[in-house]
Amino acid sequence: MPLPSNTLRIAVMPGDGIGIEVTEATLAVLEPLARRHGIGLAFEQVRAGAICYRDTGTALSDESFAAAAAADAILLGAMGWPSIRMPDGTEVAPQLDLRMRLGLYAGVRPVRAIPGVPVALADPRAQSIDLVIVRESTEGLFFSRGRGTVTDDMAEETLRITRATTERLGRFSFALARRRAATRGRAGTVTLVDKANVFRAFAFMRAVVEGIAPEFPDVAFRAHYVDAMALDLVRRPWDFDVLPIENMFGDILSDLGAGLVGGMGFAPSADIGDTHAVFQPAHGTAPDIAGQGLANPTAMLLSAAMMLEWLGARGAGQGYADAAAELNAAVDGAFAGGLRTPDIGGGDGTVAVARAVAAHLGVAEA
Ligand code: ATP
Repeated sequence: MPLPSNTLRIAVMPGDGIGIEVTEATLAVLEPLARRHGIGLAFEQVRAGAICYRDTGTALSDESFAAAAAADAILLGAMGWPSIRMPDGTEVAPQLDLRMRLGLYAGVRPVRAIPGVPVALADPRAQSIDLVIVRESTEGLFFSRGRGTVTDDMAEETLRITRATTERLGRFSFALARRRAATRGRAGTVTLVDKANVFRAFAFMRAVVEGIAPEFPDVAFRAHYVDAMALDLVRRPWDFDVLPIENMFGDILSDLGAGLVGGMGFAPSADIGDTHAVFQPAHGTAPDIAGQGLANPTAMLLSAAMMLEWLGARGAGQGYADAAAELNAAVDGAFAGGLRTPDIGGGDGTVAVARAVAAHLGVAEA
């Protein structure tokens, strides 16, 4: 069948370990869903990751980077492998290079309770958890990656916060809170997470975000220290909405958030910049379960829904927004209907999830 004339190019980077398995399951659902909505998606496989590094000596070749950068969106599985290391001992992580090189400053990590998926907290309000961590993804402590100094006696890494990126992160977060408020029929709140009581860099960050808050008078603004936020994410996560946060703090708290709503298998993410975006599950390559058909592809399916929504919001057409909403609803419907993956104690593996979600969409998986 010929592709629709408005076909968009999606660079698909399966990566390593379970990244390959969850990518396959996601494409099996996305392809028929796209066909049904008449939206043209041309998937182009792009090689990168730890195995690629082992086999070719480069984790992300110039050619792969160019293919990813030229695409309309990038869909990524997971990359890295514990035994494959760079000469300095760190893991191979080209997904971090993509964030830096494409300026993907907003790491959007929704933490949402899915009906039927066990939550970590016994309080019935935990069923209503629906917040988004917006992890700054190009600077903070990760800015020091590859730049730290190590001598016999000392190691040093330096955190960087810039006004320009903080303003972008802040505006992105307020705009997100505004959109969420509109679709949920309630007020929006941005809570900046920092450590402004101890570090000048975070006092600076807070002052910058406070400075742009008046541009969004309909969205409430608060700030919270990161240690208190760790406590409150366990004590009352249902009270939060949009949480912009420095890179390293966001790395840690987004795993905590995932733990609240079923674990890494249920944690989607999008790394968004002004011109490019990468959509990938928040989890890694899970060497302990790789190759066994046990990986839960839900996080990647939900990341793919975020991709469709983002493409739709950029003007690709209503079909994208509709397909995104349907995919989210189908995931919810499948779990509400009894689907149970091994990571939450069930027996439904990677393929079974793709099948169940496709069945809820009313499409035959590819
Ligand atoms: P990274 O260090 O990049 O975060 P990782 O695989 O070591 O990668 P996580 O992604 O945090 O770390 O995963 C930790 C564990 O959680 C995995 O080893 C695996 O047991 C489990 N896990 C992660 N993702 C999934 C998934 N999609 N389905 C099932 N289990 C998962």
